[in-house]
Amino acid sequence: MERFATIRKLRSGNASVPNMTDYVTERARFSWDEARRSLDGLPGGQGLNIAHETVDRHASGGRRSHVALRCLPRHGARTEVSYGELARRSSQFANALDGLGVTRADRVFVLMPRTSWLYVSVIGALKHRCVVSPLFAAFGPEPIRERLALGGARVLVTTPDLYRQRVAPIRRLLPELRHVLVATSELAAGPLRETATAIPGTLDMALLLEGASDTYVIGHTDPEDLALIHFTSGTSGPPKGALHVHDAIVSHDATARIALDLRPDDVYWCTADPGWVTGTSYGIVAPLAQGVTSVVDEGGFDAERWYGVLESEGVTVWYTSPTALRMLMAAGSEMARGHDLSRLRFVATVGEPLGPEVVVWSEDTLGVPAHDTWWQTETGAIMVANYACMDIRPGSMGRPFPGVVATVLARDDQGNVLLNADGTAVEAEAGFDGELAMRPSWPSMFRGYLGDDERYQACFSKGWYLTGDLARRDADGYFWFVGRSDDVIKSAGHLIGPFEVESVLMEHPAVAEAGVIGIPDPMAGEIVKAFVSLEPGYEAGDDLRLELLGFARKRLGPTMAPREIAFDQQLPHTASGKVMRRLLRSREPGLARGGTATTEEGP
Ligand code: AMP
Repeated sequence: MERFATIRKLRSGNASVPNMTDYVTERARFSWDEARRSLDGLPGGQGLNIAHETVDRHASGGRRSHVALRCLPRHGARTEVSYGELARRSSQFANALDGLGVTRADRVFVLMPRTSWLYVSVIGALKHRCVVSPLFAAFGPEPIRERLALGGARVLVTTPDLYRQRVAPIRRLLPELRHVLVATSELAAGPLRETATAIPGTLDMALLLEGASDTYVIGHTDPEDLALIHFTSGTSGPPKGALHVHDAIVSHDATARIALDLRPDDVYWCTADPGWVTGTSYGIVAPLAQGVTSVVDEGGFDAERWYGVLESEGVTVWYTSPTALRMLMAAGSEMARGHDLSRLRFVATVGEPLGPEVVVWSEDTLGVPAHDTWWQTETGAIMVANYACMDIRPGSMGRPFPGVVATVLARDDQGNVLLNADGTAVEAEAGFDGELAMRPSWPSMFRGYLGDDERYQACFSKGWYLTGDLARRDADGYFWFVGRSDDVIKSAGHLIGPFEVESVLMEHPAVAEAGVIGIPDPMAGEIVKAFVSLEPGYEAGDDLRLELLGFARKRLGPTMAPREIAFDQQLPHTASGKVMRRLLRSREPGLARGGTATTEEGP
């Protein structure tokens, strides 16, 4: 029985008619080729480039003066950047890269907070046909070093503080990293700029741009040319670099229109960290493709300030995380009532289960229900969503995007996909759990893992892409999240690979072995807990616990570091000698089969 009633949408007489008015009709008529035709392509039939579709085509058309970015810096005054200005600055950056000898397909990494420099760097590097890879500003030096090395970074764009704290200590380990460019404050805040000449081994972005031409003609770009590498975490081994191509813009443009219901005059706010795939796909690419105004807020979460931003910026479409909404809920609805949120038309979330109580709270407190969307680094764009035109079943992820064929595949006890007599995969019936899978056919689907074809091939079975998530469908085709089928941890929307955390813990001389799992947390969904066995001569106790927590935090950064450590000289092992995380999980009170916090409501 469903505890939360379906939230019905007004179908007529509503002043705000969604871009997609009927799901079934759109699904029947949608084609990716037609979606591709709504983009421009590079002038003269030179191919398809994300930078042109997101910025240059607006700058050379009617939206030249339209505000692309409304930047709210941590300190100082709000600034606005038009599409014309963004085109100009990103061209300067592309020319500056050229001047440094950086060429097509070179890897440009971006370790930046949310400022206009982030946009200038990403768009400029894509213009120059470099491959961009964003990093989390919350990462400690070790995850940064590992990703820069794996990705063969040639250029890094960052801030003076991040450089000094996280990159300078590891710079000598990265011989391939030729140029570190440092950007200080907002574009308009020139006089406040701290010049990077004071930081040996770096170049000042603003000075570089000043000397560069602001016209740049994008060279021929094949839609299949590599554009972005997003690092994500797996159960074992180092982080995986998911490869994405310029053609992905077709998915971002279409999903922004249909799943986020973006319209030209919207003021849009995506709160995702730029290091996460959502921060790029829906923080940079999708809103710019639609030509809307994005709020770019450098500050972190603060309930009172966030309500203030929604109100003062007149945000109409908001893409955020369930953790953020839960934190607003915890701050109390009174706080919301002090703000005029009447311009807010559409709220959506991603990254972790959106509990039904949060959907209902959102409708009561923000005036609109939160719409859950599901996707992952590998799929590159939204795959399953609750659409503006569709009734919401609180707790459900929604229905597949038009143009995407999704299913639930039946699995045996070992987690293998079950096969029919003719060799095809068995699709689970409505109401039964299985692995969420999709037929790969959409443009933003990843094209491989950097240097690891075996792992890439292992993601497919019988023509289906296996997501690693467990789900079920109801009789009406709504999908419900059940949990992860593997050991990865989701904390406040961040995907954390236990192996990466275990490896760092085991570098401490006291640690003989480590097993890392996610345990439930009311606010973050899950937090990281480590079980460690000690080398002879070390004593378990609070002093050592604190030392290990600090050691991990310094190396990994606050997002990935364990919050809890338990000492256990008898860690359970598999026959091949690996720590059995599944057994560690089963010892924790309140953990479900997959170990991931599950959505309680269901069909
Ligand atoms: P990432 O690749 O870091 O974006 O993480 C993708 C993973 O986040 C998915 O495989 C899911 O496990 C989880 N996830 C994303 N969206 C949702 C959602 N709406 N509900 C539940 N889990 C989600």
